Amino acid sequence: MLILFDEVQEWIAHTYVCFAAKHTYVIDTYCGPDSMQEVTELIRELASQQPVVVVNTHFHWDHIWGNCAFPESRIIAHGRCRELMEMHWDKQLKENETFQFGQVIKHLPTEVFQNRWEDPDDHVSLVHTPGHTEDSITFFDHEDGIVFVGDNLEAPLPYIESPDLDAYIATLESYRSLKDVYMISSHAQNTDRDLLLDNLNYLKKLRAGEALYFIDPYAQQIHHTNLAYLKAQACSFH
Ligand SMILES: [Zn+2]
Repeated sequence: MLILFDEVQEWIAHTYVCFAAKHTYVIDTYCGPDSMQEVTELIRELASQQPVVVVNTHFHWDHIWGNCAFPESRIIAHGRCRELMEMHWDKQLKENETFQFGQVIKHLPTEVFQNRWEDPDDHVSLVHTPGHTEDSITFFDHEDGIVFVGDNLEAPLPYIESPDLDAYIATLESYRSLKDVYMISSHAQNTDRDLLLDNLNYLKKLRAGEALYFIDPYAQQIHHTNLAYLKAQACSFH
C-alpha cells in the first residue's frame, strides 16, 4: 500500500506499507506523528494485531520524524543512518521546524545493519545502496516485486549529498539489472526505467566533468546545488 503525502506545497512524499506474512512494514515515516496517524489507523483496520516494523531509508528529516508514532516498534536502518540521525537531529529540526506535523520526539533506529538485512519468512530484505546519501538503503518486497529506493531516484534530477559518485552509479546500475520489479521512490510520481536511465546518465556525465545546462530552471537549480556540494566536498579534502 502506497501512501502519498502532499501537505508540503513544493514536493510530495511516499510512505510504503508492506503487509508481509508475520509483520507489517512501514517504509519511511514522513514529517511527524500526525502524518503517521492515518497510516496507523489503516494498518489497524487491515492488519489487525500484526507487529509493525519501521524502516528508515536514510537519515533525512522528511523520512524519520514520524518514527515517534511507533513507540513499541522495531525501527531498522543502516548503521551509518543511526549515527547521522543522532549527529544532525537538532540541526535538522531547527532548520525545518515549519514542516513538523505533530510534536516530533527523537526516536532513533533500534536495529541496524551494514550490508544486508532480511526476514526470510516475510520475503523482504534491505540492502545498503549508497547514493543520494552514504547511508541510503533499498527495501525489497520480494512477494509483490516492489522495490522502494528512497531518495536514490528523483525527478528531474537526483540530489547528491554524498561525494561518492562511483557508489551512486553502482547503486543505480544494480537497479538497472533488476527484472520484473516495480520501483517506488520517495518523491517522484513515476519511478520508471526512463527516470532511472536519466538519473544514471546525469551522474555519469557529472563524474566525467561534462559541462551541463538544463532548460528547465528547476533542474538547473538542482544541478547547481549538486555542483556546489561536490565542490565544497572536494575542497574539504585538500
Ligand atoms: Zn533525502
